Amino acid sequence: MTHIYNDPDTFKSDVLTGFAAAHPRYVERVPDASGFIRAGGPLAGKVSLVIGGGSGHYPSYNGVVGPGFADGAVLGDIFASPSAEQVYRIARAAHGGAGVVLAFGNYAGDRLNFGAAADRLRAEGVDVRVVWVTDDVASAPPGAEGDRRGIAGTFTVYKVAGAAAEEGRDLDQVERLMRHANAATYSFGVAFDGCTLPGASDALFHVQDGQVDFGLGIHGEPGISTTDWIPAARLADQLVDRVLAERPDSADGRAAVLLNGLGATKYEELYVLWSEVEPRLRAAGVDLVDPEVGELVTSLDMAGCSLTVTWLDDELAPLWQAPADTPAYRRGQAVAGGRFTERAASAGAIAVDTQETASPASRRHAAVAQSLLATLAATVEAHKDRLGEIDAVAGDGDHGIGMSRGSRAAVEAAEVAVAGGGGVHSVLSAAGAAFGDRAGGTSGILWGLLLDTVGESLGNQEPVTLDRLAAAVRAGATKVQSFGRAELGDKTMLDALCPFADALERGAGASLPLAQAWRAAAETCTAAADATAPMVPKVGRARPLAERSIGTPDAGAVSLALIVTAIGEQLDQTRQILEESS
Ligand code: ADP
Ligand code: MG
Repeated sequence: MTHIYNDPDTFKSDVLTGFAAAHPRYVERVPDASGFIRAGGPLAGKVSLVIGGGSGHYPSYNGVVGPGFADGAVLGDIFASPSAEQVYRIARAAHGGAGVVLAFGNYAGDRLNFGAAADRLRAEGVDVRVVWVTDDVASAPPGAEGDRRGIAGTFTVYKVAGAAAEEGRDLDQVERLMRHANAATYSFGVAFDGCTLPGASDALFHVQDGQVDFGLGIHGEPGISTTDWIPAARLADQLVDRVLAERPDSADGRAAVLLNGLGATKYEELYVLWSEVEPRLRAAGVDLVDPEVGELVTSLDMAGCSLTVTWLDDELAPLWQAPADTPAYRRGQAVAGGRFTERAASAGAIAVDTQETASPASRRHAAVAQSLLATLAATVEAHKDRLGEIDAVAGDGDHGIGMSRGSRAAVEAAEVAVAGGGGVHSVLSAAGAAFGDRAGGTSGILWGLLLDTVGESLGNQEPVTLDRLAAAVRAGATKVQSFGRAELGDKTMLDALCPFADALERGAGASLPLAQAWRAAAETCTAAADATAPMVPKVGRARPLAERSIGTPDAGAVSLALIVTAIGEQLDQTRQILEESS
């Protein structure tokens, strides 16, 4: 099928441009940031709800910015978490002085990026609460609700929170009601076919012809069971049974119900299904409160749908039914002329660090770092498809494209920093910031931190020696571990990074030449990445489908091994520059 785009690389920003042009009554573009705030906002004295995630899920998230719903929306690239930098920029622009709730579906990359943005906002004195939605019953069993992914249930949870903020509730209350709504929300989905990323020649994944895949995630994460085609009545049985199985004892029967289309399933098909779902829910004693049938959280052109039930009580029901006025979703009378009318004062421009003067040795080594970053980018580019395929086995298939976006941006940022006279720290920090910002996702923020920490440890004054490099890589590994909270053996890039750091330290202890020590460490790293194949993932996107990943190495470990191996080969050519000053 033919799709509309200019350049796959600019797809997201082209969407933002068109959306802003279409909806000036509702949204304002935040300059130099990937998202929107409400037109006329931020409102003085009002709690701001900032929602977000990867692009490709419209009307989530920018489609529901407006009175009664969200105050801001931040968008990453297709299916990839927005970077911490972008979350920070949108939240800062949306803050009206009464605090911010940052909300997203439960994915590793979103948790890391929104969490880092929250830390930064708090350091600036903004009261921030972070709430993630966990409604997908297919992604973890009862008892492990906190591990579940967020899918279409994000819609009801955000709607409730947006209404509470519009009513003038304070930050504690908005957060409490939102967590309450999340705990009351259960979804289950099915897919009939995969979705195609802009510019891709084939779908991200396929559901076999004539089959129905139950429990498939909204990014093509593999499902939990497959059956042959079944009529709408049987499909309704499956969806309703699965969602009602987790009905809490406290539920009095009132419920907000969504039948959500994933993008390619037509509204007519959804109504056919609803004709079967609705009587089954009523027969089970569900009192339907303003149900919604339609596209609320999509996955590009994925075929399929999901059923969501949010059990309501006296607190949640009026918030679910409260008016809202947004580009994609309107309910009741417009809220214009509501409680909050005055625009909050602007928070002002974001401060930029002034650069420390670098020593001549550090500047020479910064040029080496720049050329090694180019090697990194070229290696990622050469293996982009394979990295995507490995990630797709149990994850979402975006590791190659994310690393590619990030590493290209890192090279550009390093060029600018080197031209500006930056030393190793300045160049690697600039590269890390650009990597994290452009890649998004889990590996974006982790690689951004890794580069930044290695740079910080190497500084802008002293030349790079093997001892200092080994210490810097160790500092980077420690940072990635403390920030990402993965343990060794969880099947992540750490399982290759820590052995690499160990081996580099051994090389330094044995006083090997730098290039030789690096190459030996790269071999250790490669062996360690291969050794992740039999492991069972415990964190990240791959976790819900843990068993499927057995036999395939971890994508992040493999990319690290490929990168350090290529850098090892390149180091011989830069040996002279490095050794001159050591
Ligand atoms: P996303 O998970 O956002 O889709 P990527 O596909 O780019 O991001 O990266 C996935 C890789 O990130 C995994 O293969 C794993 O190596 C790494 N990863 C995931 N979670 C963690 C974590 N908590 N700590 C370290 N590495 C992690
Ligand atoms: Mg991925």
